[in-house]
Amino acid sequence: MKEIQINRCDGVFESRFDYRSSVKAKTKGRELLSINSKAVGAYRAEGRGEGLEVGDTLYLTLKGSKDLSLEFLIEDIRYFIEPVDQWQAELRGVAFETLSIFTWQVICDECQVTYPLEFVCNLGDRQEAQVFHARSRLKALKWLVNDQKHVCPTCASERIT
Ligand SMILES: [Zn+2]
Repeated sequence: MKEIQINRCDGVFESRFDYRSSVKAKTKGRELLSINSKAVGAYRAEGRGEGLEVGDTLYLTLKGSKDLSLEFLIEDIRYFIEPVDQWQAELRGVAFETLSIFTWQVICDECQVTYPLEFVCNLGDRQEAQVFHARSRLKALKWLVNDQKHVCPTCASERIT
């Protein structure tokens, strides 16, 4: 196993705003004011900005993370009359009890490049669960992953061509 855990911090959603609608990504003036967990996987958020609808996806960047964002599906949204463009939404998202951001250094087995991989886990997750989440994230980033090897996207694309 080449991954080495180098840091660990509490994941906090109330963070800098970085959401975009899957459909109307260009709308300006969007801002996340707050987000709270109601139950495991269920969240309530307040924000500003027009054009959001049920079925849209919000991408929220986690505080303490460089580029890790999580997806939240809007299940219900209502706009306030005043202030205009302010809304409250019910969201469905990751089902973690205590979210934690991990950063592991992953080394490509072919070119030896080191990549700082960020991923989320439950704070109390065992090693196997951490590895599972790390691998899922690597695959999402287009790495080739199996039990023996991690191959970066650059090397992976050279293999195919
Ligand atoms: Zn490589």
